[in-house]
Amino acid sequence: MHAFEFKDGQLHCEEVPLRRIAEEVGTPVYVYSRRTLREHYRRLDEAFSSLPHIICYSVKANSNLAVLATLAGEGAGADIVSGGELYRALKAGIKPEKVVYAGIGKTREEMAYALGAGILMFNVESELELEALDGVAGELGMKASVALRVNPDVDAETHPYIATGLREAKFGIGMEDAVEAYRRAASLKNLEVTGVHQHIGSQITQVEPFRESLSRVGELVERLQSMGMGIRYINIGGGFGIPYRGEEVPYPRDYAQALEPILRGSGCTVILEIGRMIVGNAGVLLARALYRKRTGEKRFLVVDAAMNDLIRPSLYGSFHDILPVEERERPVEKVDVVGPVCESGDFLARDRELPAFEPGDLLAVMSAGAYSFAMSSNYNSRRRAAEVLVDGGRFEVVRQRESYDDLVRGERIMG
Ligand SMILES: *Cc1c(COP(=O)(O)O)cnc(C)c1O
Repeated sequence: MHAFEFKDGQLHCEEVPLRRIAEEVGTPVYVYSRRTLREHYRRLDEAFSSLPHIICYSVKANSNLAVLATLAGEGAGADIVSGGELYRALKAGIKPEKVVYAGIGKTREEMAYALGAGILMFNVESELELEALDGVAGELGMKASVALRVNPDVDAETHPYIATGLREAKFGIGMEDAVEAYRRAASLKNLEVTGVHQHIGSQITQVEPFRESLSRVGELVERLQSMGMGIRYINIGGGFGIPYRGEEVPYPRDYAQALEPILRGSGCTVILEIGRMIVGNAGVLLARALYRKRTGEKRFLVVDAAMNDLIRPSLYGSFHDILPVEERERPVEKVDVVGPVCESGDFLARDRELPAFEPGDLLAVMSAGAYSFAMSSNYNSRRRAAEVLVDGGRFEVVRQRESYDDLVRGERIMG
């Protein structure tokens, strides 16, 4: 059962009509289905149940505290990329011993924060970072548990901005340098080498790139284990793709079935860092139509949500389905759906066949749970949207719409 469905001509999130949320909270507003978050998490957890595993939800996909707390309630850990994400994860009740920390630019301050919090491990991305972490751990009289992020050089066949597993990517350590880097790590006395990490990209819609990269990672793990290193974790990263326009994508069980033979033999606990697959289709962005206009041959629908609210179409050329919130007989027309921001790149849809919306109509921009609010900004001094969590027949505002005061918080006029 889908979270977002029409009942009596009204688009609902679970049991709540989206129109009610728009009327009470205003637009633009993000709406998330708690039931869907739980279902997606459970499906993933069940798929990998035959292997010892930890699901570390990728906080960067959607870092709202209520989303994090919902997943914490399911037993999720967190995959973080900054001190700020650690702060959020802990505040939402995620256990530090289920937190893994990736990213190529961790500062010493962030390392100290994470060590003090007692996270499970650092996914280290370069030799200099190993040395910095060793230094920080030494100062604190602690040992840091590390995995090295290796770059298996596979083509994930996704958008270049979100492909991270190719040799020329800024992420990870090349396979050819990995053994040497592991030797170095093992020689540093404030580090404990416990895992191998990969993350090959996002919105991957095939199993094959994972099979390919993990068989390389599996060979590396064997080699490291034969060298006497205590590798206990294989972190397969994230990137499981979702349907944005009804396309067929693998289910969690398809990944699990394909990868189990590679992972089982290692005797390791498997870590998954999944963001998009859990939250992407659990959310929508509600907007209201403001104006219609034409320039030359082009028709535009101007709405009250913009690229500062949802940048994926502008940044990646991503497709988000757009549905009317209230079904009504309308002619179909081809339009660009655009926001008020002063950039020609400010669009939510281009040359899209849509029902002819009238000013005042509500639209739902679908599949907007991941990398949507999380990437929003205050550009054009637009206040960031509200976020709402729905649970069955009730809903709560889990992030208030920003006020004008919020916009200038921390700023001052020089005396
Ligand atoms: C972004 C990211 C993920 C999550 O990717 P999804 O496509 O949202 O599953 C996992 N691991 C790392 C290191 C990441 O940077």
